[in-house]
Amino acid sequence: MNEIIRTSFSALDTFKQCPLKYKFQQIDKIRVPKSKEMVFGNKIHKALQYFHSKEPVSPTLDELQNFLKDNWDSEPFLNQEEDMIYFGEAIKILKNYYNFYQKIKEKPVILNTETRFEVLLENKDKKCLLVGFIDRVDKTKNGIEVIDYKTAKRLPSQQDMDNNLQLSLYCLGLLGHWPQFAEQGLENIKLTFHFLKHQELMSTSRTKEQLDSIKEQVWQKLAEIEKSDFKPIPSPLCDWCGYKKICPMWKHLYKEQFSIDDEQVKKVVNEYFELKEQNTKNTKRLNELKEIIENYLDKQKLERVFGESGYITRLTQTRYNYDKDKLKQAIKALPRSEKKYKILKATVKKVKK
Ligand code: SF4
Repeated sequence: MNEIIRTSFSALDTFKQCPLKYKFQQIDKIRVPKSKEMVFGNKIHKALQYFHSKEPVSPTLDELQNFLKDNWDSEPFLNQEEDMIYFGEAIKILKNYYNFYQKIKEKPVILNTETRFEVLLENKDKKCLLVGFIDRVDKTKNGIEVIDYKTAKRLPSQQDMDNNLQLSLYCLGLLGHWPQFAEQGLENIKLTFHFLKHQELMSTSRTKEQLDSIKEQVWQKLAEIEKSDFKPIPSPLCDWCGYKKICPMWKHLYKEQFSIDDEQVKKVVNEYFELKEQNTKNTKRLNELKEIIENYLDKQKLERVFGESGYITRLTQTRYNYDKDKLKQAIKALPRSEKKYKILKATVKKVKK
């Protein structure tokens, strides 16, 4: 019997970010405490789920903020101050969301929140179970709207939205969960990111061709994972990675006991950076000095200037640069007798000749 590969947007995205992180998380199943960003996002999502679960009588702003307070988790925060900053930001987001929602004249018809989907994708003899959660599914005048809440600050471009893998997979997930929605036409399935920090909504949709190509992409990504040697890809995102302490790229930083070799290499690394910094400073100063000397030579109409340690001579060099297209035309126009000049690669030397 063929094994069913289980995957999700988050797993595929983790692999793209860093194959080793994917291995730690999806294959070795090493559990790590949730990061503060994860807890922050998760608590806001839960509060919004609570807000919409009470309809038609939605909770008041006080009730909504109290829900957050009662369910808040201070564990991942470094200290009380950091905890208060994140909590304050979450309270602000909920207040803005509440005000935003109050201003909507025709309230959305919410079909479900936190919809869990499972879609079976088949390719020859392979099967893959695509799983995920959709934050909110609304019924609109023309069809359906899939909404995913984002706590990120950065807004993507419309082009990013039109190519966004998460929204494509959610569209597949929606159709897998509620196949009847396909009858409404894919153009009537709106895929939206709701950016909570700005209360900004950005939407897109998918065609059948795009969904078919996304399935292809999923299979390609799975094949890549299968062949992978799970090399780490360090990036600024490492600061949010729960596996940093066990990652080979950061192992030295977290070493608890240092040998003489370790201490020595630390000194070498420090010296390396000091020299590099000095080099940068020297290059900058050398350029400044060059400019001062050049100006002096120009002013005094001189070509050589002396100091106590030596002299500096100005050398004039002529450099040739050819317009490739014009050169091609000129070579093409040469008579047969000059055919020897029909050169393959135009170097300055050859062209001069
Ligand atoms: S710390 Fe960075 S390089 Fe190491 S596993 Fe995490 S993301 Fe990858």
